[in-house]
Amino acid sequence: MNPKFVFWVPVAIQMAAGAAGIALLWWWFGVLTALWTALLGLGAMVLAQLHYLYQLSGWLDDPRSGKLPDGWGEWTPVFSRLYRLRRDDEKNQAELTEWLARFRQAMHLLPDGVVIMDDVLFLEWCNPAAEEHLGLRHDRDKGMRVTNLVRSPDFMDYLILGRYDQPLTLSFRGRKLIVHIIPFENRRQILVTHDITETERTDMMRRDFVANASHELRTPLTVIVGFLEIAASEDLDRETRKAHLKLMMDQAYRMQHLIEDMLTLSRLESIDHPIRPEQVDMHKLLDKVRRDAEALSAGKHTISLEVQGSDVMGSMDELYSAFGNLAANAVRYTPAGGSVSMKWEDTQAGVRFTVRDTGIGINPEHISRLTERFYRVDKSRSRETQGTGLGLAIVKHVLLRHNATLSITSEPGKGSTFTVNLPKSLAAVTHPAAALAN
Ligand code: ADP
Repeated sequence: MNPKFVFWVPVAIQMAAGAAGIALLWWWFGVLTALWTALLGLGAMVLAQLHYLYQLSGWLDDPRSGKLPDGWGEWTPVFSRLYRLRRDDEKNQAELTEWLARFRQAMHLLPDGVVIMDDVLFLEWCNPAAEEHLGLRHDRDKGMRVTNLVRSPDFMDYLILGRYDQPLTLSFRGRKLIVHIIPFENRRQILVTHDITETERTDMMRRDFVANASHELRTPLTVIVGFLEIAASEDLDRETRKAHLKLMMDQAYRMQHLIEDMLTLSRLESIDHPIRPEQVDMHKLLDKVRRDAEALSAGKHTISLEVQGSDVMGSMDELYSAFGNLAANAVRYTPAGGSVSMKWEDTQAGVRFTVRDTGIGINPEHISRLTERFYRVDKSRSRETQGTGLGLAIVKHVLLRHNATLSITSEPGKGSTFTVNLPKSLAAVTHPAAALAN
């Protein structure tokens, strides 16, 4: 219905009724009574309007202070509409606050940095990731120019050139970042930062690994090709041919070793090969490790083994490979006449395997890097003893998969001790011998 009708028709009816009442008074009691009554009626109406206006103005000053009166006449729908508007407004406000809180939380959890700047690059807002990437602090730096906060010539050039369609790769505060500026809303710009330090590091590791592996394979291959060329071009006597064949075989074994170790490493790193725990008879396993070490030593060392600890739940093949590597290293890096002692024992925290040798030892600066792939203290000694440079990397990965740790102590010229600590959770069963003793 037309709102004009809704408002004016009842007003007109009320005024007509009032006028009719006054006319009746005039007819019955005379003109004076009618005029006085009309005047009093109009005065009361004006007072009522002023009262409601006063109430409305008070409420407008502070709409939250209280409820509006119900009002009289035409004030009733006006007040109820105003009241409804306020309630809707409060609801919208609550929704907006909730949405903002959710947005803030999302921005806090975002791994990428987001900085909002105005058109002249003054910082308006940034999330915690941006604070970490760029060394900003929102509460401290708000209102400051971002170029004064992120002091990098590359970043400056990027801003000056203004080629924002391309992101910038920036080395800043020891991190590698991809930085991108996105203009929005005409007068604002968003700066997005993405940390690629870890990706770069793994890429570099992969590149290094391929380069190292190719280099390691190329050396024996060059030797084999050299001998084959000699054999193809010259008539060699039987003895020389035999000697060449032996050298070629040695190099071929070296390549085979290397490839086996690389495959083992990649299997250990692969998430497609989760560990399948089984009960490992440590007596049997370590006895095999000792026999291998004795075979490698060929009687040149004194080798001892003490097994007192519990059996464990783990991968038998992997543990055999890790402990075998440690024992083989002890033999390979101990000159003839030295000794290698191995011990398997229970500790308060779990089970411990120790390999102690009286060998050449390791300078302290090398110790933290020994488990890196292809890291060797002395390359020629490692090669002489059929080393691939991957043994301790394999040990590290096996131990990681078993939640175990490796610690190395060594004194150059005196010997080294490699200690593996396996957690209690792996020490599943007591060894029968130990159980009988109890
Ligand atoms: P490699 O095949 O060269 O032995 P590893 O990964 O097994 O490779 O060992 C890395 C390096 O750690 C070795 O090249 C050697 O320099 C050093 N190393 C390992 N075990 C011992 C040890 N028991 N005594 C002295 N040096 C050792």
